[in-house]
Amino acid sequence: KESRAMKFQRQHMDPDGPSNNSNYCNQMMRRRNMTKGWCKRVNTFVHEPLVDVQAICFQGNITCKNGQPNCHKSNSSMKITDCHETSGSKYPNCDYQTSHKERHIIVACEGNPYVPVHFHASV
Ligand code: ADP
Repeated sequence: KESRAMKFQRQHMDPDGPSNNSNYCNQMMRRRNMTKGWCKRVNTFVHEPLVDVQAICFQGNITCKNGQPNCHKSNSSMKITDCHETSGSKYPNCDYQTSHKERHIIVACEGNPYVPVHFHASV
């Protein structure tokens, strides 16, 4: 079974990306299995080395929006791509708007080793 840590990597990690094209989200949301059964509405990919994203678990500790204490904000801004389902998107033809950004990111971490399991926000 896929662990939460592996699921985070599948849904959010693309260290070598992005290929600079407006179809990035349409391709990646499908390739990473987020368009099976339904279209996942929003999702962010991070274009930084995995070790740098894992290190966020030991950076600024903050309370998550749901009240859990395990959120962490990156010290540096990171290259990310936000994917938003468009209003015209209809499963199974999931359609996304692609926006490349540079932001601080907030992830939730769990376990031993303490690693990212949830992408919380970018700020
Ligand atoms: P994502 O939120 O990264 O887009 P999922 O919703 O598929 O992806 O998975 C998030 C996972 O992280 C869930 O298994 C959830 O239980 C776990 N988790 C751990 N801590 C938190 C938290 N503080 N807030 C939300 N989810 C959390």
